[in-house]
Formats: sequence, C-alpha cells, structure tokens
Amino acid sequence: MKLETLPSDFQKALPLLKKIKEAGFEAYFVGGSVRDVLLGRDIHDVDIATSSYPEETKQIFERTVDIGIEHGTVLVLEDGGEYEITTFRTEDVYVDYRRPKSVSFVRSLEEDLKRRDFTVNAFALDESGQVIDLFDGLSDLKAKVLRAVGRAEERFSEDALRIMRGLRFAASLNFDIERSTFHAMKTHAPLLEKISVERSFIEFDKLLMAPHWRKGIEALMETRAYDYLPDCQDTFEKWQSLLDETDEKFSFSSSEQAWAALLLALEIEQPKAFLKKWKTSTQFQQAVDSIVSIYRFRLSSDMTKPEVYRYGKDLIWQAEELRQAQGLSVDFARIKHLDADLTIHNKHEIVVNGGLLIKELGFKPGPQMGGLLKAVEEAIVLGYLANDKEAIFKFVKAESSK
Ligand code: ATP
Ligand code: MG
Repeated sequence: MKLETLPSDFQKALPLLKKIKEAGFEAYFVGGSVRDVLLGRDIHDVDIATSSYPEETKQIFERTVDIGIEHGTVLVLEDGGEYEITTFRTEDVYVDYRRPKSVSFVRSLEEDLKRRDFTVNAFALDESGQVIDLFDGLSDLKAKVLRAVGRAEERFSEDALRIMRGLRFAASLNFDIERSTFHAMKTHAPLLEKISVERSFIEFDKLLMAPHWRKGIEALMETRAYDYLPDCQDTFEKWQSLLDETDEKFSFSSSEQAWAALLLALEIEQPKAFLKKWKTSTQFQQAVDSIVSIYRFRLSSDMTKPEVYRYGKDLIWQAEELRQAQGLSVDFARIKHLDADLTIHNKHEIVVNGGLLIKELGFKPGPQMGGLLKAVEEAIVLGYLANDKEAIFKFVKAESSK
C-alpha cells in the first residue's frame, strides 16, 4: 500500500529521512504515528527508525542530544523541530520478564519490526509513502483486530507490560483482541506482578482516558489481569459495578477523575495509600483523594461554601460529573454560585496575617493566634466577616477576650 499524501508532520520530517539515506543508511517512520495515519487519526509524535548506529546518526546531523543512547535513540534538532531517531534493534535476552538485558543494534528493518508488540504497531513508512507491512497489520487494521507480532505466548512472556498495552490499545482503538493473543494475555497475566508499577500505571491510565475505556475494562475483567495489579485482587464484581453504574457514553475528563471513579467502585477506604502503591505523585494522590471525599460528601449533602473553599471548584465539578454519569441528581449551578460568592479562595487573600496581628495588636505567635486566624478564615468564608482590616481587628479583639 502506498499513501498518496503524507500528513504535514511527516512532510516536515522528510528532509531528515533523505539526509540519512544520502549518508548511505535506511530510514523509516515507525510506531504509533504510522498506525494513526492509516486510521485517519491525528498524530502526535513522529518516530524515525534507522539502520545507522547512534554514533553514525550523530555524524549526519549538526545538532543532536543523547537522550537514550543505550537504547539507540538520538534526538535530532532540525528546522525548529525535535525528532527521535532510533537505531534498528532487537531485544534478545529478557531477564525476569521485564526489560531486556541488552539491546543489540542491527542493520535490518525486519528485525526491528519483529520485536514490536502488535501488528498494527509494526508498520514502517518510507519517504515515498510506501507502507511496509511484514505482519499483515493492514488486514488487522481493517478488521479492527489487535494481534501480537509472532507467537503471542513468547511475546507476553518476554515483556508482560505488553498485556497492559494490549488492554489499552483495545480501549484506545476500539479493537477486538485476536483469540490466541487474548488467550496468551490471560495465561501470562501473573507475570504482571514482575512489571514496574510505574509502567503499568502509565498504560492503565491511558486505558481509562481512552474513548472506549469500557472495552479495556471488559478485557481486563476477562483476562483476570486485575488480580496482578496493586491492591486489585478479587475485584471482578467491582469492575462490573463500575461498568453497570456508569453511563455508556461517558468519558473521563481527567486522570484524577478516572482514578477517583475507579477507587469508588473498588470501595477503597484509603485512597492515598492505594495510589502510593501505584507509585503516583503526591499531588495526584491529593487530587484523587479530594474527588473521592467530595463524592462521598455529596451522597448525603448538598454542596456547601466551606467545601467549595476547601477543595476548589474544579475538583468539585469533576465529582459532580461522576454523579451525572451515574444518573444521580446534579447541581452545577449551585457550585458555580457558591464559588462566585466566595470572597476569598485561599488564606493568603486575607488582608490580615499573623505578622500584622503581632505588629499592630501586640499578639504573640503561638497556638492561640493560630486558632484566631483560623476563626477569621472561617468567618470570612461563611460570609459573616468582611475581608477588611478594621473589621478583622474588631473580630479578633472580641474573640480573644472571650
Ligand atoms: P501512542 O499513540 O499512545 O504513543 P504508540 O503505539 O506510539 O502509541 P509508544 O508507547 O509510543 O506507543 O511506543 C512506540 C512504538 O514502540 C509502538 O508502536 C511499538 O511498535 C513499540 N513498542 C513500545 N513498547 C513496546 C513493548 N513493550 N514491546 C514491544 N514494542 C513496543
Ligand atoms: Mg507513541
């Protein structure tokens, strides 16, 4: 198959391919962007594979950065763009079902494509628009099927992360997983315990954010792969309830929202501890924890001003969207009004601080003053104290003489 026109991102990178060829090597576009072009989707990153070894690639271009030279990747800066150029490679010895012990650079495109995970991810595209399809990926694209390159059993035992990737591509592409590929994913799922949690998180997060995330969750359930993910053992019914209780057309608007929905469905009592096991950032843990708390608060109460002040409109909005997706009553207007009514959004906006109380009213630093400032903050949020110096001083004097 030959593409008549190349998308602009590829066009822009064509001079690089030509330069590599002029130097006597082969070069192709490879990976997800070729798949996405064939599917008529927008592309994000243009990956180039070449028969030149990293040192040779560096000689061809003026400005390069070693970003992953041990994996064969050189970053080339050219015409205002940045391009990752990776030497053809095989990954021969896998240790512990994780990353290969060593990668060997090779001169053969075929060897490079053979080590790729799925047929639809194993295309190469040359500068004339010719698609190189060694594993019948075009038929799989047409049939919307995800199939491992080569023997599925081997491929998942080499690198179990491919199981998570398989689930996520089912969700992002809306593809069915071919039978023997699926079978191998299921039988090799226990190997997921050996995979770094950070890598699993990235794939699982992409699954949740995909438009067809339900399809990914269904495949996760059928493979029982959840049993080998942190703190997700024996959760079949809970995943089912997530699917049953969420509107079929709903897509998550953020990762934080998606993970909050997941934690609620899994009935996780300690969101931060759970997300710590997934090795997420504390900032992420905090945001998900807040959405879960807001959601639980809303089960028995209307939204209130102190809640809007404490969590901020954005997270509350996301929790409300989850309610909407579950067919529960929602009140977005109330959230908007409460937020608009807030005279302050954080304590730094209060015109009086501890320093001023010490300087002008002779207070001493300590728990008593801390308590007073807290009371000031609360009174301003609730709307019965103005954020005004004189009013606050009066309030503080009255409170401290109680
Ligand atoms: P996306 O559009 O989400 O970036 P992608 O297919 O480009 O999807 P990447 O993770 O960016 O996925 O990987 C780029 C390419 O590298 C893949 O298309 C695939 O050919 C190959 N690849 C990545 N990870 C693996 C793996 N674990 N095993 C085999 N091949 C892989
Ligand atoms: Mg990619």
